[in-house]
Amino acid sequence: MIDDRSIQRALKAKGHYADEIDGVWGNDSRNGVRAALIAAGVATAAGWPDPRCKFAFQQLMLKDLGIEVGDIDGVIGPQTRIALEKWQNRLRGVTPREGEVAHQPSMWPRQRDVPGFYGMVGQSQQMLTLPYPMKLAWDVSKLVTRISVHAKVHASAGRAFSAIKAHYGPEKIAALGLDLYGGSLNVRKMRGGSAYSMHSWGIAIDFDPEHNQLRWGRDRARMARPDTAPFLDIWESEGWISLGRERNYDWMHVQAARL
Ligand SMILES: [Zn+2]
Repeated sequence: MIDDRSIQRALKAKGHYADEIDGVWGNDSRNGVRAALIAAGVATAAGWPDPRCKFAFQQLMLKDLGIEVGDIDGVIGPQTRIALEKWQNRLRGVTPREGEVAHQPSMWPRQRDVPGFYGMVGQSQQMLTLPYPMKLAWDVSKLVTRISVHAKVHASAGRAFSAIKAHYGPEKIAALGLDLYGGSLNVRKMRGGSAYSMHSWGIAIDFDPEHNQLRWGRDRARMARPDTAPFLDIWESEGWISLGRERNYDWMHVQAARL
């Protein structure tokens, strides 16, 4: 959620709030967000309850900042949560470390340009501390708290894992198998080919391989069900792709490279 002071500041800038920026949510603030929404063309806000108007106005703020938020409807969905996460990152001043690319999803290269972009296989790795512990998929007694990823995707993967934690919470993550770690860095050739796997650069991560086997399609893969859609949405919001969604196989796999 956006704090009340920031909301009041935005209201004032739009000319719908004349009171103090004091973070006290009173009638002026309540009436202000509704009026601002109507002025922005969200006519149905006239009939919405106060909390919905307040939330819709936050969506409007995010949209004004150029953050993709979907419909201004006052409904908290996955897209709005991702947008809020991005806003919070901006507030915290989370900026890429030296050598990392800025947060621009289209910056990830196509697969054929991966060697030029990421360099030598197995190099430029950085340990990522996971915001929630995972379990090794083939030995669930082993906890995984840090994984090796390429330095250029380190910040992006961290944001994705944090957004996943915020969206689902630990219990749902475990129930959906999103804490079953199937590997990231692994220098090897693609199955049945001579080209290196995207795992060779530490730019791909596998989840729950047992229930998302390589040749399974969306009729069988666990990751193809609706309850894991937000998980893949979050990776896609970071510009990563799901092979399951793109090619309907290897649903366990997300990567920071386009096809
Ligand atoms: Zn994979």
